[in-house]
Amino acid sequence: MTMDILEKLKLLESESRKLDPEFEQRNHWRKAVADYSDHFLDNIEQIKAYVVSEDRGRDIYNTPIGEPKTIESLLDVLAYNVDRPGLNPASGGHLAYIPGGGLFPSALGDYLADVFNRYAGMFFGSPGAVRMENQLIRWLSEQMGYPETASGNLSSGGSIANMTAICTARDFKNLNAADFSKVVIYSTAQVHHCVHKAINMVGLREAVKHKVPMDAHFRMDPQALHNQILADLEAGLKPFMVIGSAGTTDVGAVDPLDTIADICAEFKLWFHVDAAYGGFFIMTDEVKSLFKGIERSDSLVIDPHKGLFLPYGTGAVLVRDGQQLFESQHMMASYLQDSYLDVEEVSPADLSPELTKHFRGLRLWLPLQLYGVETFRSALSEKIWLTRYFYEEIQKIEGFEVGPYPQLSVMTYRFVPKSGDANTFNARLVEEVRNDGRVFLSSTMIDGVFYIRLAVLSFRTHLSTIQTCLQVLREKSALLTKDFN
Ligand SMILES: *Cc1c(COP(=O)(O)O)cnc(C)c1O
Repeated sequence: MTMDILEKLKLLESESRKLDPEFEQRNHWRKAVADYSDHFLDNIEQIKAYVVSEDRGRDIYNTPIGEPKTIESLLDVLAYNVDRPGLNPASGGHLAYIPGGGLFPSALGDYLADVFNRYAGMFFGSPGAVRMENQLIRWLSEQMGYPETASGNLSSGGSIANMTAICTARDFKNLNAADFSKVVIYSTAQVHHCVHKAINMVGLREAVKHKVPMDAHFRMDPQALHNQILADLEAGLKPFMVIGSAGTTDVGAVDPLDTIADICAEFKLWFHVDAAYGGFFIMTDEVKSLFKGIERSDSLVIDPHKGLFLPYGTGAVLVRDGQQLFESQHMMASYLQDSYLDVEEVSPADLSPELTKHFRGLRLWLPLQLYGVETFRSALSEKIWLTRYFYEEIQKIEGFEVGPYPQLSVMTYRFVPKSGDANTFNARLVEEVRNDGRVFLSSTMIDGVFYIRLAVLSFRTHLSTIQTCLQVLREKSALLTKDFN
């Protein structure tokens, strides 16, 4: 019997040890992956921002999961089916939605985080990793003007960060189910849709959601907010929270944060700011003043995978009074009792819905430390000036008109054809640009008018990219004008 077990274990061990490759195997795989990614990075300027394809990666299903395969064959599958069709977010020509990043040192940080697999959820488990994440949260808080009592959490992105903040607000204000249908949440119609998802997820689906009117630059009208709150109080409702945007996704508008903070103070409302896209522009001299008042918010969301050019997967929530976040999110579990001993620092697991999580700190810490903060400041300023340059230059191409002057690095514009339907023309234009692929642009509808957007936030977008973009728009609009009549 014992012999049987020992025999069996020997056999199983020789199989399962494959999961722990020795140097030669590791080196072979690592080299193949490094070569593959170096080839990509060395040619990034030539690789299209968008690839339209018939197959759209369908061949991935021809590599079924089952038998072991070679790294070479798998990288071929990846190259053809994953890294070719669709949007190339690593391209500087990605000028749509909110462009992605992908700093190289972050990839190295992820590599180390994955190899060592430190658990950054609890101080007891990895005091160093937790201190690193807390150091980053403190640095983020400083940038936003939050006091030392602030706390926060590195999340997977802005959506979960918004949810965590709204949950904290709900708990701090002691709302319970009986209140929900009377509770009022204020924002503009331009607030990101993930905020509405977050409101639903924390149970506030029934809450009254008022869309506060905006000015011509899509910023919240504070007088209208004030009037609406008074009317709601009059009607016996419970004004609860105002959600301001510091850089709307659609048009890059920054709400008048300082004035909204005054109103929130007057009526004792929770003030949350969604700065997922725009927040890091506070670091630039050019637009710092737009963010005045953000430091008076109760909570805010900011996305390093947008404004600090990280690869996807890192957002952050900050709460000015860190204790409120802790009260909302911490919980004890008896199987974790050993980990509550001798704790010097608050643990991420007590500040977020997540328990077991990726060690996200390293992918942010490594680039910040390697480059220093000044480099990021310059890159962010560059994005602002590139947008301003485009704003000037696009108007020099006959037929184009622009939306409001860019507050940050997003702006709208469109071509107005001499005859025919402008919306149809611009939809065709966006399609032509996508088929061309040198740059990738997206569009939006504002009051029934089709606008093309420019969103500059890739660390690889420079003057030559914007000039290419202008050139593509010049060519394609001329071409379409010919067959549009
Ligand atoms: C991108 C964005 C979000 C959502 O964040 P994710 O990181 O995509 O989850 C929320 N708000 C604004 C303003 C955004 O631009």
